Amino acid sequence: MPVNSTKTDLTRNSSSDSRSLPINEVFYSLQGEGKLAGTPSVFIRTSGCNLRCWFCDSYHTSWDPIHDLMEVDKIVEKVQEYESANHIVVTGGEPLIHDETVELIDRMQDNGYHITVETNGTIVRDAAIDLVSLSPKLASSTPTAEKDPMGDGEQAKHHERHRINVDAIAEMIDSYKFQLKFVVTDQGDISEINNLVERVRDITATTINNSDVLLMPEGATRSSLADTSDSVAELALKHGYRYSPRLHVDLWNDAPGT
Ligand code: SF4
Repeated sequence: MPVNSTKTDLTRNSSSDSRSLPINEVFYSLQGEGKLAGTPSVFIRTSGCNLRCWFCDSYHTSWDPIHDLMEVDKIVEKVQEYESANHIVVTGGEPLIHDETVELIDRMQDNGYHITVETNGTIVRDAAIDLVSLSPKLASSTPTAEKDPMGDGEQAKHHERHRINVDAIAEMIDSYKFQLKFVVTDQGDISEINNLVERVRDITATTINNSDVLLMPEGATRSSLADTSDSVAELALKHGYRYSPRLHVDLWNDAPGT
């Protein structure tokens, strides 16, 4: 999903930075991915990430973070401006790196919203999450020198060391309704996916059905998505996993705020 690349005036009227989050954008759109694809929702995009995927589709929350600090109260007010919405997606970046995200989620649930949190599955938080969308990052996400969008692979070692936390994934699955969503760059990713799903199944008390495992083609534009979607659909059919669309790309290509 494309992100804002210009600073927004989200902090006007703020009186202090206490209980604030770095926010890249707040916008209303249809959920593009996963089990709730097509659901009208308010997206709250926090800035900052503990990983550096080469294909990151929210570059201005990870590689080159752009944001303003916004108080939790102001975020709640901003969301309430979208009167027809009752679903919220808290996304990033990696929203769970911030302590204040927990307060934001709990406040939103107090206001009756359904909360989906999109996370890379490396951090566990105790919050009022209705659906955790776990997207563990595969080896094919590592920003090697050839794929690094910003340098010469300086982030590769850190990314490789921290991209998978099986215990955190399992704990989140045992704590919340979940979906396990993988960004697939090519058919070679499937052995790592199968292996990781089995490792998580071995340590969770929760049953992980194949329909809880989603394969989503990599690609932030219609043309790049066209290169991967057919082969990912074939993988889903072959292994019994669910195929996840990128509806927002189909509808709006890479337009900001979608
Ligand atoms: S984990 Fe998500 S937000 Fe972070 S770098 Fe990877 S794709 Fe971007």
